[in-house]
Amino acid sequence: MNKISDRLNRLSYSQTFVMSNKARDMKAAGIDVISLTLGEPDFDVPQKIKQAAFDAINENYSHYSPVPGFLELRQAIAAKLKRDNHLDYKPTQICVSNGAKQSIINVLQAIINDGDEVILPAPYWVSYDEMVKLVGGTSVFIETSIDTDFKFTAEQLEKAITPRTKALLYSSPCNPSGSYYTRGELEAIANVVAKYPQVTIISDEIYEFINYEGEHVSIASFPQVYEQTAVINGMSKAFAMTGWRIGYSACPDWLASACDKVQGQMTSGANTVAQRASITAMQMDPSELQYMIMEFHKRRDLVFELIKEIKGFKCNLPKSAFYFFPDISYFVGKNLDGFEIKDSDDFAMFLLEKAHVGSVGGVSFGSPECIRLSYAASEEDLREAMKRIKDCVEPF
Ligand code: PMP
Ligand code: GLU
Repeated sequence: MNKISDRLNRLSYSQTFVMSNKARDMKAAGIDVISLTLGEPDFDVPQKIKQAAFDAINENYSHYSPVPGFLELRQAIAAKLKRDNHLDYKPTQICVSNGAKQSIINVLQAIINDGDEVILPAPYWVSYDEMVKLVGGTSVFIETSIDTDFKFTAEQLEKAITPRTKALLYSSPCNPSGSYYTRGELEAIANVVAKYPQVTIISDEIYEFINYEGEHVSIASFPQVYEQTAVINGMSKAFAMTGWRIGYSACPDWLASACDKVQGQMTSGANTVAQRASITAMQMDPSELQYMIMEFHKRRDLVFELIKEIKGFKCNLPKSAFYFFPDISYFVGKNLDGFEIKDSDDFAMFLLEKAHVGSVGGVSFGSPECIRLSYAASEEDLREAMKRIKDCVEPF
């Protein structure tokens, strides 16, 4: 008897965790696997953030915080949004959550009725479509391709909007493609959305600092859509604090208080020690994080040179975040040493089993012709992983 709800039965397991767990299990069984699955910085948390956490414990920050977060943290986030993104938010417009992941689903729960449409430009981050399903919405996809760096245009967006469209959800910088949207591209998107007041933009900016070329622009900085935008960000990527689980949303007043309402019934708020430490993170000057960005940049250049040598991999130079998203359709439909490759998930399994390199297939990112490789790994592991993949696919 299946006791699971229909809603959950429609949901998939997060493919990023499925593949990283598989790689971890193989390692535990003594197999020398290099896992390029999860997108998480391999750096330590900066010392002063750790110190702030120790201080918070000693100062007995052990009780519930206000549901949307400590006022001092929301003030520090507001100051950061002003300093880095030229955005004006009051602390009451900010809601601190257990990671950006929760911030996104808070917003979706706040605005989506059964059957409402959420536009997801593909490739999208794995959890977006599943979160839309979880809140009873319907995802509407915009197709993009490697030829346009996997970016959608304002024209494509306008065609996808219907009277049922409630939200547009995307990340810039983008996980998984590594592309980011320029000021001009975002302005064109903002101009379209401004014509449809029922549409909320959920702008996931968690990779904001990991951008090697251009300026990061928040779409909320265009006044025509400020009142229609939820900005999502957090500590996980910029400060290597994935396990501390602190993210936040910055929204118009009506949406911020709806997020507070959702959160008050679901989690009561985020971990207090991690919140106190996040005040220090928000007050750090972005220049203090440059050492991580420079290291990612170096690794990106290295992997790009190595990936170009791999047969059947078609790849653009990603300009931000820490992922490569090569098109591997050359292998689809082939039988590789007993592995039927119907899509990139099969190909990712093939690489794991045969090359002992973990990656994530693109099916759950909405691009079944691509795989995602995270380069948040050591240079030595990256060199070895690219060599293993190259040797493994060479005969086919
Ligand atoms: N958005 C994107 C695009 C991500 O890659 C991730 C993965 N960390 C998240 C949101 C969620 O981040 P958090 O750890 O803050 O929940
Ligand atoms: N965001 C990271 C990734 O895409 C971490 C895993 C997750 O949250 O899904 O790999």
